[in-house]
Amino acid sequence: MSLALARKYRPRNFATVAVQSHVANTLKGAIARGRVAHGYLLCGPRGTGKTTLARVLAMALNCERRGEPELQGEPCGFCSSCDRIWSGSTSLDVVEIDAASNRGVDDARELRERAMYAPSGDDRYKVYIVDEAHMLTREAWNTLLKVLEEPPPRVVFVFATTEPQKIAQMAAPVLSRLQRFDLKRIGPVEIRERLAIVLADEHVEFEEEALGMIARAADGGLRDALSLTDQVLSLGESGAVTTERVRAALGLIPDDEFLALLDLVTERRAAELFPAVQRLADAGVDFTLILNGLGDLLRAQLAIALGGTPTELPERLRAALAERAGRVSAGDLLRMLHALLEMEPIFRRSGQPQLMLETLLVRFALLDRTVELEEVLRGFGEGTRDDPPPRRVTAESRVASAHALPPAPPAVVAPAIERAPAPPIPRPATQQVAQAAAAAQMAPPPAPAPRAERTARIAPPPSLDTVLEQWTDVGEMIRRNGRGMVAQAVQWLRPLEVTPHGGLILGYAPSNDTWARAAESARADILAAIQGCFEGVTGFSLRAHAESAVAAPDADGIPTRRITAHDVQKERLDALTARDPLLEAAVLALDLELRD
Ligand SMILES: [Zn+2]
Repeated sequence: MSLALARKYRPRNFATVAVQSHVANTLKGAIARGRVAHGYLLCGPRGTGKTTLARVLAMALNCERRGEPELQGEPCGFCSSCDRIWSGSTSLDVVEIDAASNRGVDDARELRERAMYAPSGDDRYKVYIVDEAHMLTREAWNTLLKVLEEPPPRVVFVFATTEPQKIAQMAAPVLSRLQRFDLKRIGPVEIRERLAIVLADEHVEFEEEALGMIARAADGGLRDALSLTDQVLSLGESGAVTTERVRAALGLIPDDEFLALLDLVTERRAAELFPAVQRLADAGVDFTLILNGLGDLLRAQLAIALGGTPTELPERLRAALAERAGRVSAGDLLRMLHALLEMEPIFRRSGQPQLMLETLLVRFALLDRTVELEEVLRGFGEGTRDDPPPRRVTAESRVASAHALPPAPPAVVAPAIERAPAPPIPRPATQQVAQAAAAAQMAPPPAPAPRAERTARIAPPPSLDTVLEQWTDVGEMIRRNGRGMVAQAVQWLRPLEVTPHGGLILGYAPSNDTWARAAESARADILAAIQGCFEGVTGFSLRAHAESAVAAPDADGIPTRRITAHDVQKERLDALTARDPLLEAAVLALDLELRD
């Protein structure tokens, strides 16, 4: 096998373009009917076949056998014209431009001038394939707009982009002159199927599970999956594609490591998480891989909790997760996933990925787990109808806000500034209730959870007005105590809302980037200080949270427009569910309001 697989199996016609048949068929039909547009926009994630489709289109337009009835808009794939375009070697009529490196107006001008040149023959088309089109400058788009307004005959532009919204922002008039196609993300199951076909064709034996591992590592990119397969095959002499070989070649983390982390979390063995993560770090594992793997696992566990079957996982892992079903509620899994997804973008840029990962896992382990309503009711027996449940466990409160995630424990908070009074770590009262409930099932009647715990839980939080009345005093107290950044920060922050669960949403001006740029640990310290002082002044215990997306408080400290925390949450939830259809389904199924 001398030729790289990704290259060797690059499609030579529309029919073999994986997954994107909705686009391929439309393009093929347009060619067959002679109704080719002057501009196309292909949108989709990395590795979904944008450039491949563009090349097949160019091949079809310039195929020497074009017009033969049996081809029906397909390129023949093997004539000298097709072959040249397919292999990416120089062709007079197909120009591939990487916008990431040719962004300027000069390039666009040159492009325009070149576009004026007719194709090399009367029967040929000139096709410009502009990759990473969102990188083009406004000036470049302006020039292109002029070209597209009066398109030269038999010139076709194909723009490929991963970020169509950027083009929409910058070049809306151009967009309206393009035919847009959205390519689908290629799922792990489809990648696995494709790999199976390729390897069978290559007469290479394989384990199904090994292909699943490659598919997951490729993360929706077919070309990447084929390149990774090459990488696996190049390791060692020859032989089958096995799980061990894949793991060794790609440096993957064994599933058991993830299961071990999950077990530490569910069994609340927080202290053991540090050595576990350290062990992975010592083995040279990439932390992003750990985070991704953990996300896959939580997602699969959630799917199982909801009664689904995560088909993208190997059978053994699926069975292991099924065994663990019920140990963590769907709501808690959702909260964990939420926290993980929120951390992801920061994580990639962080200089301290290990610390962030450890903090996240410890937060998971200390998570104030929620209790199923049925369990609570069972725990308190049938005969205590006039005894209200200790805590209203509704769908809404089951996915309590991330407020209920305990703050990062002091051990992992970098001592960026002077330590503020430690925030109250929520007691795992609900777990006691759960244990009581479990005990009740075996030996009724149980002693209900301690009443003090319960009354503390149901004491209503103060109103926003009460908080605002006391806010000056809180600020004064913090300022008097003279903690540099904390004293300053309290001037930027304004109470916006008190949530039913005792969270205090603080707002700050989006223009204030000092807060935005502050290290996470510094922010945690500031919030902890505010909580401590707040409790000292008012006697109320609230969990402080700062929201970045709220309207700027004006000079009087009263927000000019009140964007409620609900708006912020909804926006976040929308963004979150847009990224993960399963999560959306989960939210709908549970009728949950994800709060943060
Ligand atoms: Zn051909």
